[in-house]
Amino acid sequence: MLESKHYETLSVFPDVFESYLNTSIMGRAQREGIFSFEAHDMRDWTHDKHRTVDDAPFGGGQGMLMKPAPILEAIDDLSERGSTKPYVVFFSPVGHRFDEACAERLSQLDRILFVCGRYEGIDERVYTRADEVLSLGDFVLTGGELAALVVIDAVVRLLPGALGDDMSAQDESFSDGLLEYAQYTRPAEYRGMKVPSVLLSGDHAAIAAWRRRNALERTAQLRPDLLDTAALSEEEKMYVAQFIQQKEAERL
Ligand code: SAH
Repeated sequence: MLESKHYETLSVFPDVFESYLNTSIMGRAQREGIFSFEAHDMRDWTHDKHRTVDDAPFGGGQGMLMKPAPILEAIDDLSERGSTKPYVVFFSPVGHRFDEACAERLSQLDRILFVCGRYEGIDERVYTRADEVLSLGDFVLTGGELAALVVIDAVVRLLPGALGDDMSAQDESFSDGLLEYAQYTRPAEYRGMKVPSVLLSGDHAAIAAWRRRNALERTAQLRPDLLDTAALSEEEKMYVAQFIQQKEAERL
């Protein structure tokens, strides 16, 4: 029996999620009951005729901020619904950088509510209700909806059964602390570029060894910072050190 996860968003644009989450792997995972999704309209928790969710910032300055009341009332209300309380995730450039380890951690939770800001952001007091504040990186989006979709996508593909083939999430970049090895498909030669011959050899042990070496080399070249925390054997550490030395010698 699959344990179904439930993800919810709270935003002023509840319609933007549907098309993406009903497509391809996300759509299939929903249809198969691996996760369910609900988009809540923040304006449902306003009490004025214009359904106002924003106001001018104290102290002046550009733009509008999201008021505390609709968001906090919505979180209170939604927490009363259902048997598990939602884990409440906010988005902001000041949050913790989202990464694969974080996706893995979130994939263990049964119910997550993603609160998506707009305008210049959200009244600071609202963050007292955040279990976690996430940032996608050092840039500014116009709203948190895309951030929620990114996080949901990365989390859902880790859920058992979501990719159809349980192995496929294990081989990816970051799953073992390294970048993924280079991959090729037909034709074996294209515009003079040849696929590494070992991959055509049918020798599974040789292919596995090549892939591991390629992952080590790519990580050393493109993301050496990842090597500090990747789980490498002594032999692999030596291999990487030699590879780096060789690359440095080539550069001189
Ligand atoms: N004034 C804020 C930015 C607000 S942008 C600041 O300068 O820090 C409006 C909304 O977009 C945010 O509330 C958040 O939900 C989303 N957002 C913007 N940048 C983001 C990022 N790097 N990662 C995740 N969400 C982001």
